[in-house]
Amino acid sequence: MSAADPLPEQGARCRCGAVSLEITAAPVQVNACACDSCRRATGSAFSYTAFYPEAGVRKLGGELRVKALPRPEGRREFAHVCTACDCTIYVVLDAMPGSIGVMGGCLTNPDIAPPDTFYFTSTKPKWVELTEGIRLRRELME
Ligand SMILES: [Zn+2]
Ligand SMILES: [Zn+2]
Repeated sequence: MSAADPLPEQGARCRCGAVSLEITAAPVQVNACACDSCRRATGSAFSYTAFYPEAGVRKLGGELRVKALPRPEGRREFAHVCTACDCTIYVVLDAMPGSIGVMGGCLTNPDIAPPDTFYFTSTKPKWVELTEGIRLRRELME
């Protein structure tokens, strides 16, 4: 996407719809990860998180509470959770200051923010097949 292209319409909402986000920036990084921690945190086969610059994300309604969660590498993650439905709609990581990691499953249009990189393919379920164009890492850095 070049700077001149208009951004496709993008937003996010929680499970019950009380909290929604307006997104007016392009993602800076989109990750999927099948590490043990991500699988258990999401209760799914892998996590999928689109990071946007803080200034490009605005909360439109609803109430969030913030839960501090330990990360395997020793840093912290702050989950922003809808007080009505307990859905984590975005996370803020110590490791990525200035950006907001919107949970990919909450995006109104996940097709326009596919993962750049898929981490921990070593522990990815074998039935998850990936399309071309996604960088693969067996673990965090390899
Ligand atoms: Zn909700
Ligand atoms: Zn992970």
